[in-house]
Amino acid sequence: MSEVLDVDKLKAAGRIAVASREYAVGLVKPGALVLDVCESIERFIVESGGLPAFPCNLSINEVAAHYTPGLGDSSVIPEGAVVKVDIGVHVDGFIVDTAATVDLSGEYGKLLETTVRALEEAVSVVKPYVSLYDIGRVIERAVRDGGFKPIRNLSGHNIGRYIVHAGLSIPNVADRSLYRLRIQPGTLIALEPFATNGKGLVVDGPTINIYSYTGRGPKMGLTSLEAELLDYVSREYRTLPFAARWLRNWKGGDVEGLLKLLHSKGVLHGYPVLIEAGRGVVAQFEHTVLVTESDVIVLA
Ligand code: MN
Ligand code: MN
Repeated sequence: MSEVLDVDKLKAAGRIAVASREYAVGLVKPGALVLDVCESIERFIVESGGLPAFPCNLSINEVAAHYTPGLGDSSVIPEGAVVKVDIGVHVDGFIVDTAATVDLSGEYGKLLETTVRALEEAVSVVKPYVSLYDIGRVIERAVRDGGFKPIRNLSGHNIGRYIVHAGLSIPNVADRSLYRLRIQPGTLIALEPFATNGKGLVVDGPTINIYSYTGRGPKMGLTSLEAELLDYVSREYRTLPFAARWLRNWKGGDVEGLLKLLHSKGVLHGYPVLIEAGRGVVAQFEHTVLVTESDVIVLA
């Protein structure tokens, strides 16, 4: 993929992502409407010259990832919450993915510090041809040294143009079977340790508020309205994840219902909310890093 990486556009996306993440952290306050926070962040990205590469994820306490507000969502950030904000920015399809955690309780400082350290250690071992085993090993060691568990079924990933998860999973645990898998120069990667005081595992929750076009045709027939919506989202977002609330002005119909139908017909991928299996509190920090022959550039 090296021939399709535009470093200037990635750096622009990175600057916007850093500013958006800092802005987002400042918005996380008890009583704030999650919908307002996410929409403010997405507006900030657009006003800064980027586009959201996926809906703002704001995941609270034992919710590890993939929560974005639905249409008319009335949830608020609770007192004492541990809040993950995960943001994606793209410039012409060149994506930077970044996340931070805010502890509103004052009780989870060690969890957050441990997760930050795991991310820093992961970044410090990244170089051309580093083994995926080594990245996972330093993350797991840092998290366990802090007294917590890494979430073993959540991982970092490589990123392609208009593709958030481009096929490579970068583990948050030591996995000897990955020893031979190495980061090639010209690879864009997201590193994202998750640490918890729970079981170290996430399970799918019942809610899906994020979808993406699979790039495949339907397994069964579509109504004309479904076909029209599919045509719209595939042109607007390609295969990037999107939220129903981004479509609130679309023909004024029941967009959430149509998306559920398109999901059931196999043309949309759904991202269930991911919940810590032991209902542990989860922290996450994420950087996107460009690995070249000569450089390791932390974009955001
Ligand atoms: Mn992310
Ligand atoms: Mn990511």
